[in-house]
Amino acid sequence: MSDDFRHDGPRRVGQVKEVTSLANPVIKDIKALSLKKARDESRTFLAEGLKLVIDALDRGWTIRTLVYAKAGKGKPLVEKVAARTVAARGLVLEVSEKVMSSITRRDNPQMVAAVFEQRWTPLKDIQPKGSETWIALDRVRDPGNLGTIIRTADAAGASGVILVGDCTDPFSMETVRATMGSMFALPLVKTTPADFLKWKKSVDARLVATHLAGAVDYRTIDYKSKPVILMMGNEQSGLPDELADAADKLARIPQVGMADSLNLAVATGVMLFEVRRHLLALDGAK
Ligand code: SAM
Repeated sequence: MSDDFRHDGPRRVGQVKEVTSLANPVIKDIKALSLKKARDESRTFLAEGLKLVIDALDRGWTIRTLVYAKAGKGKPLVEKVAARTVAARGLVLEVSEKVMSSITRRDNPQMVAAVFEQRWTPLKDIQPKGSETWIALDRVRDPGNLGTIIRTADAAGASGVILVGDCTDPFSMETVRATMGSMFALPLVKTTPADFLKWKKSVDARLVATHLAGAVDYRTIDYKSKPVILMMGNEQSGLPDELADAADKLARIPQVGMADSLNLAVATGVMLFEVRRHLLALDGAK
């Protein structure tokens, strides 16, 4: 990892650096963020697009490096984001279209991308209360599903997402893209099944797990009297017994037609808007 990129290493603070070479070590480090290993080691990730970068800054996420394509030079919003990056002691790079395409792996890349520090919330800090809804995902594997769930969780007013077991990385480019900025609004937690079960026993919340063998119609459950932890199963194998057995209710969404089950993200959306139906109104304040 190059010096410019390291959190505590030397930085060229307060200046915009022009980069046209794909061999530039900072660019190489940014490109490496498409790999989970590099994201884990640096505890950073890449977010693409001006809106996402502004959303992240507005939510107080720590920016390390801002990259913008030459076409963005002089654009007021880009300049503003560059100034905020400098103020946050981040590095600002102005790059050629070729470098931008290479970083974002797209032919028509966004004008702006940025490296942010990852942010995880420890499970022990989560104490569901009042009308909160937390989503627990068992071994979610598909990055698009995870991104869609985070976006939907934000839209439904859920409090956060708990990743249980071996889940896909929420900081992958595909997941970050699919969240459309919502990932900056919600706490993300990762834990093991054993720690999740221990934590569940320690909190006063109703664990509603969805299961194709569930005997209870999801529309008949009381979602009002306690905070809800909504648990969803793995795309291929569904919920394992050890997690299903810990549920206060096993809920099922009735289906007709050929399909055995709903897509995980769709099932999560259906559940979430039912769990929070009494809390949602068109004017946002019910
Ligand atoms: N073959 C898996 C099984 O037997 O459980 C299918 C898993 S399904 C694609 C992924 C997850 O979506 C399930 O574990 C459950 O959480 C949720 N799900 C999908 N359809 C559902 C339904 N009709 N009722 C309740 N949950 C459902």
